[in-house]
Amino acid sequence: MATYKLAAVPTGDRIGYANDTLQVPDRPIIPYIEGDGTGPDIWRASVRVFDAAVRLAYGGKRQVAWMEVFAGEKSHTKYGDWLPAETIEACKEFRVSIKGPLTTPVGGGIRSLNVALRQELDLYACIRPVRYFEGVGAPVKAPGQVDVVIFRENVEDVYSGVEFKAGTPEAEELRLLAEKLSGKKIRPGSAIGIKPMSAFGTKRLVEAAIRYAIKHKRPSVTLVHKGNIQKFTEGAFRDWGYEVAREKFAAQAIAESDVGTGDGSRVIIKDRIADSMFQQMLLRPSDYSVIATPNLNGDYLSDAAAAQVGGLGIAPGGNVGDGVAVFEATHGTAPKYAGLDKINPGSVILSGVMMFEYLGWQPVCDHIVRGIERAIAARRVTYDLARQMPGATEVSTSAFADQIIAGMG
Ligand code: NAP
Repeated sequence: MATYKLAAVPTGDRIGYANDTLQVPDRPIIPYIEGDGTGPDIWRASVRVFDAAVRLAYGGKRQVAWMEVFAGEKSHTKYGDWLPAETIEACKEFRVSIKGPLTTPVGGGIRSLNVALRQELDLYACIRPVRYFEGVGAPVKAPGQVDVVIFRENVEDVYSGVEFKAGTPEAEELRLLAEKLSGKKIRPGSAIGIKPMSAFGTKRLVEAAIRYAIKHKRPSVTLVHKGNIQKFTEGAFRDWGYEVAREKFAAQAIAESDVGTGDGSRVIIKDRIADSMFQQMLLRPSDYSVIATPNLNGDYLSDAAAAQVGGLGIAPGGNVGDGVAVFEATHGTAPKYAGLDKINPGSVILSGVMMFEYLGWQPVCDHIVRGIERAIAARRVTYDLARQMPGATEVSTSAFADQIIAGMG
């Protein structure tokens, strides 16, 4: 076991991994990062829900040994380090962890800790399921038709962090090189960013999306790209996506253009240009089931899809690699609500549901989802849902957790 100087390792066991399968002990050590802004409010509520659901599902036989690890403002204040190396080590060693949101300044300042974690741990698939909970107010007429799982490529694209500030010698050197290689004019003094996308990175992401569709009996995987304009990056994403479907899933998947020749039993692989996909998601959401898309498109699309079913307060996510995963909500730190016991903990709680599903503890997931459904049916919800549900009673973060716990079982 690695040595931890900042974090205390609780009594419990490590999760193992062999033959592409997790080996989960009855008392797994699971690291968590509380998060900045509203993170502590949300974590306090979420962990109570998780522990209550595990107790209900397994009596005392199984229990999570939570291990606090540090990142973000709390870590910087306490230890002078935004992202201690041992935090990354703990996420690697214990394999499955969960985190709250971390602040990322716009423009200058530190680089995104979230992006750093995803890159350091090679968590290449950001998985964001978006579904409707009956009774939640939503801005569209038929939110129940939205049931998509977005697989967002997580470590390449413009998020790789290769960009140079306007006016620097590096930006100028790259500008001249790009002019020479492309024969196109770039205005002097421009900032320059690089958008790397590889066949390797794309294919493993699309493969994960197709495997998910097959496992969960979902009808289609849609490759969302901007390949009409960015031909060699986003366009290649589409081509590599179809290629991996042909190479690895010839018997289980079929391209939309060949559907007439299929027997209807295979997962349909289709593609849509990103701008068109945003209107498709609003007008014909039931045509889409699993979506695989590059990093930036996926970031936009998952917030937009979450808004369609009632907002970021109930939008979970997981960053998943091979045998390592960090679960986290789609939303950020929502700093204006920090410390008010007001924010919706639903996204982190549902990220926990994804985590327990990943561990294979399905009864825990069922209890939590039932608790959330009943809290919404009782119309006792946090402010974000209450403002969209006429006649609903607004409750605090902690009271919403109580309501969920009361509705389990
Ligand atoms: P944000 O924190 O997601 O908040 C934007 C708005 O979304 C909030 O004002 C609130 O809307 C709504 N919202 C967010 N979380 C909610 C929740 N749990 N319950 C109900 N409503 C919720 O986005 P931001 O203000 O743009 O970003 C703040 C910081 O978070 C930035 O530093 C950003 O970089 C960071 N961030 C981190 C992550 C991450 O850690 N993975 C992800 C995204 C952003 P109303 O005002 O309408 O109530």
